[in-house]
Amino acid sequence: MVLYTPGSTSSYDLTPIENDDLRYHFLGGGSEIGNVGCILEDATGTRIQIDYGFVPSNPPNFPEEAPPITDVILTHSHIDHVGLAPWLVASHDANLHCTKMTADLLEMIWRDTYKVSSIEGQPLPWDKRDLEEALDHIIIHPFNSWVEIGEWKWQFIPAGHIPGAAMIEIHTPKRKILWTGDFDTRDSPCVLGAQSIEVDILFMESTYAGNEQPNREEEVQRFINRIIEVVEHGGTCLVPAFANGRGQNILTYLWNSQLDLEVHFDGMGKKILNHFIDNSDYVRDVEKLKEIKRWARLVSSKSDRKKALDGDVIVTTSGMLDGGPSHWYLNRLRHDQRNAILLTGYQAENSGGRRLLDESRLEIFGKIVDINLQVDQYSFSTHSGHSQLIQFTKEVNPSDVILFHGNQNDGQELLKKELQDSGVTVHQPKNKRSYLL
Ligand SMILES: [Zn+2]
Repeated sequence: MVLYTPGSTSSYDLTPIENDDLRYHFLGGGSEIGNVGCILEDATGTRIQIDYGFVPSNPPNFPEEAPPITDVILTHSHIDHVGLAPWLVASHDANLHCTKMTADLLEMIWRDTYKVSSIEGQPLPWDKRDLEEALDHIIIHPFNSWVEIGEWKWQFIPAGHIPGAAMIEIHTPKRKILWTGDFDTRDSPCVLGAQSIEVDILFMESTYAGNEQPNREEEVQRFINRIIEVVEHGGTCLVPAFANGRGQNILTYLWNSQLDLEVHFDGMGKKILNHFIDNSDYVRDVEKLKEIKRWARLVSSKSDRKKALDGDVIVTTSGMLDGGPSHWYLNRLRHDQRNAILLTGYQAENSGGRRLLDESRLEIFGKIVDINLQVDQYSFSTHSGHSQLIQFTKEVNPSDVILFHGNQNDGQELLKKELQDSGVTVHQPKNKRSYLL
């Protein structure tokens, strides 16, 4: 259990900065995926924090405590980027800057995070009162609109990834910086791909360093073909999908196929779909999303849930089979081998989905049960793949690139080498250490 007492555990170097240096310090997410929090500061005394999330594993993985901070910029609404932000408001009275789309989702994400932590008996360093206070400290900024903090100015730029996700362009008196957040330069169903800009220093997420994304059309076709196969044999497909972005993308792929499928949509993704529709500036095609909402059967009661068991496809949370309606469905679908499970994303170590893949069993409602259904996995990630990371860096043309939000493994070494060969200095920061640049 990590419960921070303000000022007690931060390893941030609080000494003033001399000359033209820029100091950066990853509280988390420097040498790992998720768990992101980073402090930037220069000699003008301007200090900002970007993101403050955690990995909702059991037990959860928290970044280290943040130093005193007045302004925090949140790139997007995924929990591994925003899950701890209420603590910053409660402890440091910080302002939370984000896009309107992100702001609209934060309350739901935080309330759900609080609920899950209570159920799992894993306390958070913030409570319900902090959450309410945090909601009053949100400041909304549109894309491409400059904001001043101290001696710096910055603006949000679209990052692809999910609706509302932003990259951050920062101008200090000495440098131009781009922080990618989670980003994808490829178009996806709900958002267009991120566009590059030229800067001196690039902080780039590197989740897929060393790994190419599959061709999206081919991957979607493989997914659709499997669904046709299962449905033609009288089965129902359970499609676990993350609530924020992935679920809505999966619905779009199914709708695009123009097949006569009965598709049910359950879990928190339903509410998020409504928020996407309410924020038409942040989605690629709001009319299409409205049609998809009318077409899909949104599960809102127990009887809806029972009906879904006879449908063709059930898209629901959790994406890693760690709970949520997916367990309720699987507990019933598992008795008929005509049914199938189609995983739509990364399955973390110790997640339900990982255990299902490795051992063909899963803990459902406190009981370990064997699952004798065919399980297939598809990659529908909206992070840039290896080639996109290389191409993006070329376009940004920085002198230095700092790789974060990635495992420091062979894949990242390969990316580092390729970038260095093109004349860029590559940095691979450790967490909890202050660096000067
Ligand atoms: Zn994300």
